[in-house]
Amino acid sequence: MRGERPRTSLLMEDIGQALSVQYNNLVYDMKATGQDIITLSLGEAFFDLPLPEFGGLTTPALHHYSHSRGVPELRRLLAKYYETKFALPVDPDTEMIVTAGSKAAIYMTLMAVLDPGDQVIVPEPYWLSYPAQIRMCRGEPVMVPHDVPVLDFERFVTARTRAVIINNPNNPSGHVYTRAELEHLHELADRHGLLLIVDEAYNEFMPPGTGFLAAGALDPDKEHTVTVNSMSKNYGVSGWRIGYLIADQRLTDEVLKINQHLVTCAPTLLAAYLAEHFDDLLDITRPQIRRTVALRNRVGAWFADNGIDTLPGTSTFYLFASLGDSTLDSTGFAGRLLKENAISVVPGIGYGDSCDRYIRVSVGSESEDRVTRGVTAIRDLVEATTPARLPARPGPA
Ligand code: PMP
Repeated sequence: MRGERPRTSLLMEDIGQALSVQYNNLVYDMKATGQDIITLSLGEAFFDLPLPEFGGLTTPALHHYSHSRGVPELRRLLAKYYETKFALPVDPDTEMIVTAGSKAAIYMTLMAVLDPGDQVIVPEPYWLSYPAQIRMCRGEPVMVPHDVPVLDFERFVTARTRAVIINNPNNPSGHVYTRAELEHLHELADRHGLLLIVDEAYNEFMPPGTGFLAAGALDPDKEHTVTVNSMSKNYGVSGWRIGYLIADQRLTDEVLKINQHLVTCAPTLLAAYLAEHFDDLLDITRPQIRRTVALRNRVGAWFADNGIDTLPGTSTFYLFASLGDSTLDSTGFAGRLLKENAISVVPGIGYGDSCDRYIRVSVGSESEDRVTRGVTAIRDLVEATTPARLPARPGPA
């Protein structure tokens, strides 16, 4: 070596791995050595789906790039889905881009709106890639601790704030934003000229009898709202990397340029398959989604009965469970649970500094029996690491 080895960027040196993905890589490695891990750390629900048959697809050029806004038929169906189910009119030719996963959709949106030093408000518990993506775009995430009500978010707005990003329903708490909360966020965005980025990746995971209110329906002209969604969770095909975003044409035109320079288009074959089976796949996943949400809420009730608090929520397949008075922080707790009980969860610290007394428990990829074994072990470890309460001293006679 004559000179020094080329260095990596200071920007990326400062950014850690996605904690949930990092944990799951560890779990994959442990499983590969034959260990049986009760996996409550995965960010996906496993569904029984038919093996895909690509033979009958009609879209031409399946082996090739598609239009960089996405396979037109899939865009048309997604636009219709939002328009008919969620009262958000969408022009599939100018107001939508199909992306290689919604992760990429969020990143490209941030890249299209942020200049260096611009701030984005990120309520905790956040989906853990938001702050990293904001930093990767040389912006500055401004975190809001989890106990601050939505109605108080305005105090985090500064002259440099450009956007607010929320995840509705929320991963990891399962919280569904109320109409009043969404209206407040729209007013805030309006008043301060902010973009409201709403990640609706879990919108089908609603408890029975509750309709989902899309944030975009309150801003049908898309003056300040970007809606981001994904086929990953609702269709159970996370590995296919198909997501999408909905925004006004001014913004999608900018995102389109990034998409063209970065990936050209989402996988054509898979997008074409999803277009061909758009409705029948949802018919297959919806009953399974219902069962998964019901399991989530049974586990929530079980935690409550066993003295373990969870952040309020009714949706998704996640629970954000409190460690109460355990002497362990979330990383210590998750590490011990994995080592001693072969059970994986994600430490709450990955979801914000105010969340280190929590762990994320996902019930989407294991049988109920194994979930029960997992949460029982969680309760036992909380109890085993909680100092015994001193008996109350008798008061003055
Ligand atoms: N948003 C949220 C809230 C998520 O939980 C995830 C995946 N865990 C994503 C976006 C990314 O999903 P994908 O890139 O697979 O669409």
